[in-house]
Amino acid sequence: MGALSQYIHTDADHLTRWLLVFAILSLRYVLMAGGAYLLFYVYKRRAWLHRKIQQKFPDKQHLKYEVMHSFLTFAVFGFMVILGNLMRGQGWVAEYGNFADRPLWYFIGSTVFLLLFHDTYFYWVHRAMHHRKVYMLVHRVHHNSNNPSPLAAFSFHPIEAVLEFSFIPLIHLFVPLHGASFLILSITMILFNIMGHLGYETLPTWFVRHWFFKWINTSTNHNMHHKYVSCNYGLYLNVWDRLMGTHHKKYELIFEAVAGRPAPSIQQQESTAEEPMPKQLA
Ligand SMILES: [Zn+2]
Ligand SMILES: [Zn+2]
Repeated sequence: MGALSQYIHTDADHLTRWLLVFAILSLRYVLMAGGAYLLFYVYKRRAWLHRKIQQKFPDKQHLKYEVMHSFLTFAVFGFMVILGNLMRGQGWVAEYGNFADRPLWYFIGSTVFLLLFHDTYFYWVHRAMHHRKVYMLVHRVHHNSNNPSPLAAFSFHPIEAVLEFSFIPLIHLFVPLHGASFLILSITMILFNIMGHLGYETLPTWFVRHWFFKWINTSTNHNMHHKYVSCNYGLYLNVWDRLMGTHHKKYELIFEAVAGRPAPSIQQQESTAEEPMPKQLA
């Protein structure tokens, strides 16, 4: 991974770099978002139906739309990596390649800072994209999934893809970071992104009342953003939503209602196998 990232950053020509980034991001999406889709929407569709947040499923045409826009996003991200490399060539990128160059506390502190910076950047850029005109032009592409599946995790308008990525060159300008910090960010980001668009709540009912965990976002939290639109803008945490009054008032109640639904017995699952889907959660 280190050698590959070194190659992307320094040795490859622009086209090879773009192709490599596009291929890596696409493969990650197919394995993780595609894997989550197969598990929840195909293999365990019936057995885990009680955990489906909105009790309906997107049609094939819409899934195609989500996949197509996700690949478009990876193409844009590829161009953004080329831009980052041009910045590096100009000496504008603050980074360090050797762990021994900085103390361990710096690595931990700067990684936590990177995650909090991304969370803050995401909240405010996301809110700005909900300005009526920007929403109609740009962010509506993502919100066309009002009942998202994991395949919607990167379903953005190309301008939104640029905005989503731009916190990286921004932080590169002023905070020296190690490549491993970005790897941790990338893993955290894709896990939260897939969870937010999963459409199923997998966490236990006590999660949203716990003194620590209640600050961390859940699948239900972001699903409610897609359904109700002007609430729950946060990515990893809901701190900014609570501070700015955009936290949905019924979030905890809806979360508990979904997470607390009893699992059907095997007989019930079999007897409802041919019935139409239950109506959407009110
Ligand atoms: Zn939004
Ligand atoms: Zn979303």
